[in-house]
Amino acid sequence: MIQMSRKEDCTGCHGCYNICPKKCITMEFDEEGFLYPSINIEKCIGCNLCEKVCPIIHTVEVKNEPIAVGCYNRDEKIRMESSSGGIFTLIGELVINSGGVVFGASFDENYNVEHTYVDNINDLSKFRGSKYVQSTIGNTYKEAKEFLEQGRKVLFTGTPCQIGGLKRYLNKDYDNLICQDIVCHGVPSVYVWEHYKEYISEGKNLVDVNFRNKSTGWKTYSLKFDFDDGTSYQDIGNENSYIKGFVRNFYLRPSCYNCRYKTLHRESDITLADFWGIEANLPEFDDNKGTSLIFINSDKGKQIFKHIEDNIVHKNIDIEKSVMFNPSAFESSKYTKKREYFYKKYKNIKFDSLIIDLMKKSNYEKLCEYKNSIISKIKRLLLNKLK
Ligand SMILES: Cc1cc2nc3c(=O)[nH]c(=O)nc-3n(C[C@H](O)[C@H](O)[C@H](O)COP(=O)(O)OP(=O)(O)OC[C@H]3O[C@@H](n4cnc5c(N)ncnc54)[C@H](O)[C@@H]3O)c2cc1C
Ligand code: SF4
Ligand code: SF4
Ligand code: SF4
Repeated sequence: MIQMSRKEDCTGCHGCYNICPKKCITMEFDEEGFLYPSINIEKCIGCNLCEKVCPIIHTVEVKNEPIAVGCYNRDEKIRMESSSGGIFTLIGELVINSGGVVFGASFDENYNVEHTYVDNINDLSKFRGSKYVQSTIGNTYKEAKEFLEQGRKVLFTGTPCQIGGLKRYLNKDYDNLICQDIVCHGVPSVYVWEHYKEYISEGKNLVDVNFRNKSTGWKTYSLKFDFDDGTSYQDIGNENSYIKGFVRNFYLRPSCYNCRYKTLHRESDITLADFWGIEANLPEFDDNKGTSLIFINSDKGKQIFKHIEDNIVHKNIDIEKSVMFNPSAFESSKYTKKREYFYKKYKNIKFDSLIIDLMKKSNYEKLCEYKNSIISKIKRLLLNKLK
């Protein structure tokens, strides 16, 4: 039976939940709003399968030579509806056009986020756009396995830990499986997201949420809520409390502060990211409509790229340089003591006020920020010199 020595290592991937032959594992919310496995000891037969599939207990080292490419979809409409360059949709279309199935993160009827699958091109829009809250995997590993065994092509998309969970659960290489992950900053909890939604909605019913609305530009994207009375709430990301708290790591899942998946050598076939730092790396692509940085990680990844190549504007780039301004690609988000204060207080203090309070900087933080801005300037100068 699975025993995680440190609860904070569990990513909530649902691998153990999907494999248990006796269905005696349920995923339960802890007090912060993150899902963890809970075992009904009376039903457990001690088969140990849950322990065998856990990607945190059984880590895998990937040896590959990823290729980095800056790119964006030539279809302007899809590009504008997507978070960065609209590459996910092209890969999804490729798989569906060959009779396959695509798994990804979509909103449920309450605007919480869950993994599900689609097999027609119009429905790919459900997965388009980043949703900054942890997506619940549910039974999707089992469902993906059924499709794979039937011989259908499957594209499974998600965070790197969700791809790791799927791979250990399947425990076998399938030629018909394509895995696409993202460069991942971390995921906020369901309870914090529910609380924020309620705070913004003020009793109105939501009809749409867009975490990455580009009407204000890609770099200055906004978070937008639409309500059934025809009104909207829209806030530029770096001025919005929820996004500010997310990027400053006030409410990420504990595993995100020590993430085993922060590496340039990944288990997925292809990785998608925002090309932050494009001004220094690929200024000719910098039109503020969204450009992706992608890593091609495997031979399957190379095949996919060949098939979508004609539909994208693209340029290869040195991988080390490409991630200079995207630390989420290779290092964990920093833990902050302010997280404890946030979780203690967020239900009782107005969300905006709490974030303003938490953002007040200590002298030490001001010094770190100053140091980081100097490092950024030096990196830009070095990049310009190298060109
Ligand atoms: C929680 C989160 C954190 C991220 N952090 C970074 C970062 O620090 N740096 C960076 O460069 N890029 C980050 N990204 C990735 C980036 O925002 C884009 O998702 C990526 O560039 C793909 O963009 P696209 O335009 O090709 O396609 P899009 O259409 O925007 O991509 C949608 C894809 O994202 C998946 N997805 C959406 N929400 C979730 C979710 N909650 N959980 C799992 N999968 C999800 C969908 O299933 C689909 O595969 C993050 C994404 C998420 C969801
Ligand atoms: S040991 Fe087997 S039966 Fe028990 S919880 Fe794990 S998978 Fe389920
Ligand atoms: S398999 Fe996934 S959900 Fe289960 S304990 Fe391991 S990391 Fe957590
Ligand atoms: S930061 Fe790591 S642990 Fe957290 S969601 Fe992303 S891949 Fe999973």
